[in-house]
Amino acid sequence: MPTASRPAAGDTASGGSASGDSPLTLATLRWPDVEAAPRRLLVVPMGSLEQHGPHLPLDTDTRIAVAVAVRACAGRVGVGVAPPIAIGASGEHADFPGTLSIGTAALTLVLVELGRHASLHWPAMLLVNGHGGNVPAINDALELLRAEGRSCQAWHAGVRSAPPADPDADVAPFALDAHAGRVETSIMLALAPDDVRLDLAVRGDTRPLAAIMSELRAHGTRHVSPNGVLGDPAGASAAEGERLLAQLTADLDETLTALLTTPEGGRFLLLSGALQAWGGPVWG
Ligand SMILES: [Zn+2]
Repeated sequence: MPTASRPAAGDTASGGSASGDSPLTLATLRWPDVEAAPRRLLVVPMGSLEQHGPHLPLDTDTRIAVAVAVRACAGRVGVGVAPPIAIGASGEHADFPGTLSIGTAALTLVLVELGRHASLHWPAMLLVNGHGGNVPAINDALELLRAEGRSCQAWHAGVRSAPPADPDADVAPFALDAHAGRVETSIMLALAPDDVRLDLAVRGDTRPLAAIMSELRAHGTRHVSPNGVLGDPAGASAAEGERLLAQLTADLDETLTALLTTPEGGRFLLLSGALQAWGGPVWG
């Protein structure tokens, strides 16, 4: 390509940004854009491709992680957002066609190699995780990456308590469910209503996750809940999903602000216990 027609490094590419007040959306940029931009933190959304009941799409966790990451990173200079890791560790859902899983050992290796490479060009990496089954791999990978002196952190999507009731609607507090129930159905109604089959939404096993965990680990989700739902999607709505998304985004936003305002110009080699504990109970 003639140099005369080549945009100067730092020019904004369509769909992405290398300057101004937007995060760097890596998939849409050219490498000179990234080289010319301030780079303080690489954010990597993580999800899964696994059954989410008869009514939600298989990539529900990935969409939620991406949506929260994009919302929380908006307006942050020096933050890059990578394409998501869209297949994770979903062995507990293996009995359902459509689920694809690479398992904990392979996912751990993926994260370690990704973190090693990312550290060549970014001072720190934050995994934004939307799937509970990914947690063991994330913990193992972060332990190794930190032992190698690399800065990395994880934030897990989880709602600590039911969202505040909408003053304009008669919404009672509800029990937070684990998988393809009211929480994820509401969020998907907010993000992609055309991809939610509410006519097929049915109640699954509604016992608390702690009560069924050993059964889940031993026999898989299909044994516990033949339709794949752990919870009850009844009562889900897009308005409730927006409130849940706002809650998650505020939580991640708080994490990002703290990470980016730590001493040493955004490097956070020394992580406090409080930072590592961030994020509520994980669902997925
Ligand atoms: Zn999920």
